[in-house]
Amino acid sequence: MKRLIAIDGPSSSGKSTTARLVAKELGYIYIDTGAMYRAVTVAWLRACNQNNSIFPESNKEALTIPNESYDSHFILNLLKSIKIELKQSKDGQQTFLNGKNVSDEIREPIVTKYVSPISAISSVRDYLVAQQRELGKNGGVVMDGRDIGTVVFPNADLKIFLIASPEERAKRRTLELLAQGKNATIEEVKQLLIARDNYDSSRENSPLKKAGDSIEIDNSLLTIQEQVEIIVNLTKT
Ligand code: C5P
Repeated sequence: MKRLIAIDGPSSSGKSTTARLVAKELGYIYIDTGAMYRAVTVAWLRACNQNNSIFPESNKEALTIPNESYDSHFILNLLKSIKIELKQSKDGQQTFLNGKNVSDEIREPIVTKYVSPISAISSVRDYLVAQQRELGKNGGVVMDGRDIGTVVFPNADLKIFLIASPEERAKRRTLELLAQGKNATIEEVKQLLIARDNYDSSRENSPLKKAGDSIEIDNSLLTIQEQVEIIVNLTKT
């Protein structure tokens, strides 16, 4: 039987890497729902900036976010004008916005800065949750996010809540950023992670929280391979 596996947890807790490897091991499809919220945020930033380039990050000084950009009318019109598609490739999930590959853009710091407030908007959640349910309805999927086990698939076959200490998460994320040639310090990254977690956990609609029936795994002291093995073994019980 092809199952639906939900992996939730705070920012940079290793969800994506773990979920991708678990899916590979089981021959399932991996779906990174954070990428979908990030793609909506890219579309929103472009709409706020009248489609001028919002990248590279140095352009952010020129980026003004009018107050009305958060209005329901503005957001609903935006959602009507976009199409988000996820395609599987040998390099992992590729995210497309209106037919264009935005897999790199969605990881830009400016997107990370605005993604939590955009994700807290009910119409954005309704729009993406419907798509996520469609993508997972036949099983054979490992889906990661913040509300997969609580809201998107409350009846998922296996629910994992992945956590690690803020220090460990910040350390891992900083190393990733430095490897990409970006500037970052552990303390700065830690403060941003904590701020995003607080925002995601305290929003009214689908806050980040552990589902009652989910299995918590603290991976602060685990290797990726160890946690993948734990989860794959849990799918066999
Ligand atoms: O997983 P990632 O860090 O890429 O997610 C970016 C943001 O998208 C999160 O901080 C959160 O605000 C939002 N998100 C969400 N629900 C999900 C997945 C992501 O609200 N299922």
